[in-house]
Amino acid sequence: MLSSRRLFGTNGIRGVVNKELTSEIAIKIGTATGTFFQSGDIIVGYDARTSSPMLAKAVIAGLNATGCNVLFAGMASTPALQYAVKHHKTDGAVIITASHNPPEYNGIKVVWNDGIELSREQEIEIENIFFDDKVHYAEWSKLGTVRNLPKVIDDYVEAIKMHVDIAEIAKKHYHVVVDAANSVGSLAAPCLLRELGCKVTTINADIDGTFPGRPPEPRPENLKDLALTVKAIGADLGVAYDGDADRSIFVDEQGEIHCGDKTFALVEKYFLKENPNEKIVTPVSSSTLIKDVADAYGGEIVWTKVGSITVSQTMKKLNAKLGGEENGGIFYDPHQSVRDGAMATALILDIMAKTSKKLSKLLGELPKYFIKKGKVECPNELKEKTLEKLTEQVSGLNISTIDGVKIWFEDKSNILMRPSGTEPIYRLYAEAKTEEKAVQLVQEYSLKLKRIIDSLKS
Ligand code: MG
Repeated sequence: MLSSRRLFGTNGIRGVVNKELTSEIAIKIGTATGTFFQSGDIIVGYDARTSSPMLAKAVIAGLNATGCNVLFAGMASTPALQYAVKHHKTDGAVIITASHNPPEYNGIKVVWNDGIELSREQEIEIENIFFDDKVHYAEWSKLGTVRNLPKVIDDYVEAIKMHVDIAEIAKKHYHVVVDAANSVGSLAAPCLLRELGCKVTTINADIDGTFPGRPPEPRPENLKDLALTVKAIGADLGVAYDGDADRSIFVDEQGEIHCGDKTFALVEKYFLKENPNEKIVTPVSSSTLIKDVADAYGGEIVWTKVGSITVSQTMKKLNAKLGGEENGGIFYDPHQSVRDGAMATALILDIMAKTSKKLSKLLGELPKYFIKKGKVECPNELKEKTLEKLTEQVSGLNISTIDGVKIWFEDKSNILMRPSGTEPIYRLYAEAKTEEKAVQLVQEYSLKLKRIIDSLKS
């Protein structure tokens, strides 16, 4: 983490606790971040990890040393803390979380005064302060203070309620199962859903930073208990959050787990029905489903690079109201332009209530695609050259090079090939109207990539 003059990855600073991310480093990140903010009021909060209180204290010490006042929110989800920045008009926030990573990891996200994580340019400013030891310590008489920030969860729940039809949802008496991954997802959503008139059953809802219930990444293979519970008790909906509750994956009343693309497309459809001509922001890795819905209901798709911060920043720049990711991130700007698991849950219930349709039916009405994934080994040093060669070879086709190479074919099938940011591999995502075609695309382009990589090796 420290060797390359780079601290921040795709979503903040991440590392294994007491190996890559120690309390000493956390203090230094606190002082660098405080120097970056040049004093002011900064909210600090954390997820349920065992190391979170320790790292929060270290970051707070660093922030105070540079004259920043800390508003300490304690344990809360990432979106609740981001909302608090907006609600209390603070200069920013530091959130201690490693989102969906295993329990031995932790991380530090830095949020700007608009509630969105810092842009890459701002991160570089903090990295330069950190690596060049340009910390500005405050005089003894100007050290920052710490005071508690109460009601962060209550304010957040109240804000979400303003964006849905509470009476309509309450009339339906929905039964919802919440799988909170033993983390901060259990703090706001169950209470929000009860206030929307739902009956709530929770699983993995006791706070436990060892994550005994399931890994905090809401992949289908981790959500079997949720799916079984929904079916067994005849619930109307199941929802699972990741470790910091900004992403949500839904299970329909039949116990089927749905990918994030589908639920995003559903939210998009009903959003565009009420707000035609709006821009929809989504990474190039998202399903063509998102474009089909935009085409059918008068929306305009804006494709971005992969990464939630890019989606948020693009939404802000274009004044777009809705964004989404295939991993279960839904960004609903009337509330806040960051991904938000509890807001997404309220939106899905709102659609179910207004249409009087079950989730399986609503999702069944969307166009269908088959998705296949693959990977090809590629040494890190050959990734860029491989991308150049690949782009050259497919330049006659309908392609996008926003992030990796994506090729769209006339039959609506497509394939995206991206170098992984963390592993020596290329990832392939193919999508088609039939399973055979998706498989064939992965095979064909895996072979093409292998040939290019082999030629570069020799
Ligand atoms: Mg997350």
